[in-house]
Amino acid sequence: MLAEKLSDNILLGRKCFYCRNYGLYRLKDKRLKCKSCKAYYSLNKLRKDLHILYFFYLELSARKAARELGVSYNSAISRFMFFRKMISDHLGKEFSKLYGELEMDESYFGGKRKGKRGRGAYNKAIVFGILERNGKVYTKVVPNVSKETLMDEIKKKTKKGSVFYTDCFKSYKSLKQFGKHHKINHTYTFGKSHNHINGIEGFWSYAKERFHKYHGINHENYPLYLKEMEFRFNHRNEDVFKLLVDIILRRFGTESN
Ligand SMILES: [Zn+2]
Repeated sequence: MLAEKLSDNILLGRKCFYCRNYGLYRLKDKRLKCKSCKAYYSLNKLRKDLHILYFFYLELSARKAARELGVSYNSAISRFMFFRKMISDHLGKEFSKLYGELEMDESYFGGKRKGKRGRGAYNKAIVFGILERNGKVYTKVVPNVSKETLMDEIKKKTKKGSVFYTDCFKSYKSLKQFGKHHKINHTYTFGKSHNHINGIEGFWSYAKERFHKYHGINHENYPLYLKEMEFRFNHRNEDVFKLLVDIILRRFGTESN
């Protein structure tokens, strides 16, 4: 499968990996140099980079990827964390304010104790999410769920005049300053009403299912893992591997390490 995905002229060393032009030549040290973009790189290293990125794309654990590739766990996990950092940077760049029918909710990640918004939330990361129906999701690890914190995010990340769907939590009370506000009372929601936040709740399940697979993620790394889930979710109907190659490997015109 990997071979198929990568079996274009690039790995045969004819077409430049970076600018996709023909005109590669081999230097004495066996590296390739491109006449068009002047990139200078080793095919072997590129092959390895593509390989580990492919395992990341498949959501293999760093431990398993390390085993498959015959590298140390530390080297695999540090590559994976680097990929997550690149993804997070990319999401920042491609972001545009959400608009239209927006579902918003907060959720708690990590920790063993169940509970919402109260004492049970101890030792958990609080995540605020906004989902554009039929569109993208935006997530942020927040310090608390006060009105100030949530309203500030909403102001920065959504366009005025949107239609907001939330539950009855008090921090959303002043939302109508930004647009129409529908409050959902879970007890009374039935059937195919527009009044729901199933979209953002679907994203929470999607992300949590993946978080569970990684045992004991360090709390300070939560934002990066979360951004990875956001990226995968937002691009779920696209060729995610190709996207990852573009934003992670093609960013560099020449080798840096
Ligand atoms: Zn080139």
